[in-house]
Amino acid sequence: MALQGAFAEHVRALEAVGARTRLVRLKEDLAGLDGLVIPGGESTTMTMLMQRMGLYDAVRDAVNGGLPALGTCAGMIILADRISDGIEGQRGFGTLDIAVRRNGYGRQLESFESPLQLDGDPEAFPGVFIRAPVVLDAGTTEVIAQHEGRPVGVRQGRAMALAFHPELSGDLRLHRRFLELVRS
Ligand code: GLN
Repeated sequence: MALQGAFAEHVRALEAVGARTRLVRLKEDLAGLDGLVIPGGESTTMTMLMQRMGLYDAVRDAVNGGLPALGTCAGMIILADRISDGIEGQRGFGTLDIAVRRNGYGRQLESFESPLQLDGDPEAFPGVFIRAPVVLDAGTTEVIAQHEGRPVGVRQGRAMALAFHPELSGDLRLHRRFLELVRS
């Protein structure tokens, strides 16, 4: 989804792992997609732009209907079921049974890099966090990434969400995992 935020970096990462990409700005751009990335940026702005462009219902219905989705940072908030510290009336799609707190790492930790643990992979992943949401409750999702014992990546069905920015890390493992999810 290319309304706002760090979509260009996702395009580069996805193409580097062998995917073909399309920028989604209009409802018509969704036709025939095998998967959708909802990038980092600002969840409130992105939600407003989706509404303004007539995309909101179409994207929510596609993703909730099983279109494989990867939400990063703001994208995680958009896929969430429960949002704390959102703006008034801010709602997520409810695709993932998670509760998140916007900008939940606090001011002193607005942006930081720190190694993460991925499930089933002993090699640490370089986590890039930028005003990231905190996962308050991972609900019934499968936790696929942790930072200091806290969930920062989850998967449920064919949707994945990460509190950090894998597209800015230079490490393609999570884009590869998303591609596997799309192909599964
Ligand atoms: N704080 C932003 C939001 O609420 C997310 C930041 C990001 O995507 N890097 O949407």
